[in-house]
Amino acid sequence: LVRIEGVHKYYGQHHVLRGIDMTVRQGEVAVLIGPSGSGKSTLLRCINHLETISAGRIFVDDELIGYREHGGRLHELRVKEIARQRRNIGMVFQRFNLFGHKTAVENVMEAPVQVKGHDRASARKRALELLDRVGLSDRANHYPAQLSGGQQQRVAIARALAMDPELMLFDEPTSALDPELVGDVLNVMKDLAASGMTMIVVTHEIGFAREVGDTLTFMDGGVVVESGNPRDVIANPQHERTKGFLSKVL
Ligand code: ATP
Ligand code: MG
Repeated sequence: LVRIEGVHKYYGQHHVLRGIDMTVRQGEVAVLIGPSGSGKSTLLRCINHLETISAGRIFVDDELIGYREHGGRLHELRVKEIARQRRNIGMVFQRFNLFGHKTAVENVMEAPVQVKGHDRASARKRALELLDRVGLSDRANHYPAQLSGGQQQRVAIARALAMDPELMLFDEPTSALDPELVGDVLNVMKDLAASGMTMIVVTHEIGFAREVGDTLTFMDGGVVVESGNPRDVIANPQHERTKGFLSKVL
């Protein structure tokens, strides 16, 4: 479903992604780990074209993301086309970014109503189903400030799912949470994985990687150092840098 081929990214002179290749098949959960500054967030942001890329190609569902190719050159797509591609890709960030003046159910129904033009009654019904799925049916009419961090993050997941994405990107979804709230969010992600969603997850929750991940990829310095079956990578890392990193997070 996702093919990343030779992706490079510069911020000015700073070469942040240095030739990334990665494939995620339909229904797979790819977990991405690596030290701070290794380029994990940048890579996720390139996949839904929140960032331009300097070289390479990213395909989702065999469609080139962010660009069209013409005479061997890449030309950035129009804003409208980029928006269409993004609708297919849900993203959940470390910070929940909910609309503070809207209730949980209003947050979840916002995009289907505004972007897809769904009528409010059916959007609300669907939003309530999604809130139920993330274990928050009793919090539908609460405002974000009345919810815990973990509850807010689950609303953010429901909100991303409301657009019926084909792919979900998670950037350290639990790292801003108090430890006792992490499990609820990971359980929602685990259920989502079991339902067949294709997911790319940046996280330092190694237990989640081992249990739920189909692949585990270790990035450092803008390159993929190693990638494989999570159990193998965790039990038997092939590179010193992976060993060093795992010894710190395990
Ligand atoms: P962390 O674990 O801390 O979230 P990360 O692996 O997600 O790290 P990125 O956020 O992708 O790392 O950053 C990779 C590098 O790119 C860092 O050196 C960072 O300073 C730099 N960088 C990220 N965003 C920008 C930007 N908008 N402008 C310039 N440099 C940036
Ligand atoms: Mg990051």
